[in-house]
Amino acid sequence: MKDANCVFCRIIDGSIPSVKVYESDNVIAFLDINPMEKGHVLVVPKQHWRTISDVPVDAPDAVRCAEEAMYIVRVTAKALGEGLADGTNILQANGACAGQTVPHLHFHVIPRYGGETLQPGWESGAGKYKDDDERDSYATRIADGIKKIVESEGIFG
Ligand SMILES: [Zn+2]
Repeated sequence: MKDANCVFCRIIDGSIPSVKVYESDNVIAFLDINPMEKGHVLVVPKQHWRTISDVPVDAPDAVRCAEEAMYIVRVTAKALGEGLADGTNILQANGACAGQTVPHLHFHVIPRYGGETLQPGWESGAGKYKDDDERDSYATRIADGIKKIVESEGIFG
């Protein structure tokens, strides 16, 4: 599935150039044009899904594509860690309110170098709960949602 108006689909089809670090039938990885740090890589499944929630689980080729993207996220972080960076952040945004600017699922692999104190753009503790009951109510709602989806999709568990 491709979208002719999507910048990442156009990178995938080669009509927009990129500095590639990996490419297969399912996945492309290239340097971010606006890097948060030197060596900032974007890992992009070649199928056009807007967000991670849009990945279908009933299509084996889609599942394979998404799994390979996750695998390449891992491999990219590992490769950065072997002599290049001291650590990495993995960042993936879904929706404009989360800071997603290209509506094609992608994963940022951001290298971190020794001595930095860079934070990846969020304030730790900014989402403090008013009390334990509120915290537990979030946990229960999320756990119930995960359970419902895991059971209905029947992939794991
Ligand atoms: Zn796309």
